[in-house]
Amino acid sequence: MKILPIFLPQKGCPFKCVYCNQNLITKAAETDLQHIQFLIDQFCQFNYSEDKEIAFYGGTFTNLEEKLIKKLFQIAEPHINANTGIRISTRPDFIFTGQLQKLKTRGLRTVELGIQSFSDKVLAASGRNYSKDTAQSACRIISSCNLALGIQLMPGLPGSDAASIKESITSVLVLKPEFVRIYPTVVLKNTALERWFNSGKYLPLSLEKAVEITAEMIEIFQKNKIKVIKSGLHSDIEKQNIIAGPYHESFGELVRMNLLFKKIIANYPKSKTFVISESDISLFRGFKQKLIKRLKAEYQMETIPVIVDPNISKGNISFTDQTPQQRW
Ligand code: SF4
Repeated sequence: MKILPIFLPQKGCPFKCVYCNQNLITKAAETDLQHIQFLIDQFCQFNYSEDKEIAFYGGTFTNLEEKLIKKLFQIAEPHINANTGIRISTRPDFIFTGQLQKLKTRGLRTVELGIQSFSDKVLAASGRNYSKDTAQSACRIISSCNLALGIQLMPGLPGSDAASIKESITSVLVLKPEFVRIYPTVVLKNTALERWFNSGKYLPLSLEKAVEITAEMIEIFQKNKIKVIKSGLHSDIEKQNIIAGPYHESFGELVRMNLLFKKIIANYPKSKTFVISESDISLFRGFKQKLIKRLKAEYQMETIPVIVDPNISKGNISFTDQTPQQRW
């Protein structure tokens, strides 16, 4: 599905969350309705026959002024049809059944909830101002309105530990959203978290730990047929705006590498040849050959025997007695 992201930075938010600086993340300026209309018209004309959604991100959509909600829906409305809908992102404490039902009749298809954690301890320490119960009930309301539900999680928030991550995973499995996004917490410039970090009150996850946690979450969600559509903040945040934390421009690739390593360790019958997907060559050879080095160390091999098979899909691997095409 194609998505047109339109950012309304912190519009409708009841307050500024401790880790949030949407202006850095989205680089969007003030809401310019004329420009939004132009973007929507262009996107819908260009992708006329594609399945697509016009997505309003970056704020608390359901708490926007009624006038602005109406205007944004009016702009999108001429394009709404069987293959075009609207997606919004919002907070779990601003979910109202009547409002969602009304917006659904005007093209709303998907609601993404910035829940971040299903642990009361983490929610309180991060000043989110809602409870696990509120978050769970918001998810149930969205699903009961027959809208697609997306859940955003942020491992590594203040108060986060192995138990709170487990709590979040368990809630997601019970609530069965259509998809999940995982954004390990990064300390951005001009946030309360920056002050907490500078005063020693907050310590972010290391990159390695964040990759490990995210990979574990993805493994569990995928086993339970819950899609993870994104992990890690996007790659074009300017370096000087990242104060600390597990930010990497290829975070998603590092996670895929971790998952592949675990898959190999669990299945590799020693001395066989690896049969890998063309799309995974960069995972083996990139990042200064980190994966190849780990495998060599694990199996005490001088080289890794490899066959690249165009028929194997990304992330999959098998093993054979055939002569390798290459040795890495
Ligand atoms: S509700 Fe979301 S967009 Fe608004 S300040 Fe908090 S994290 Fe940022």
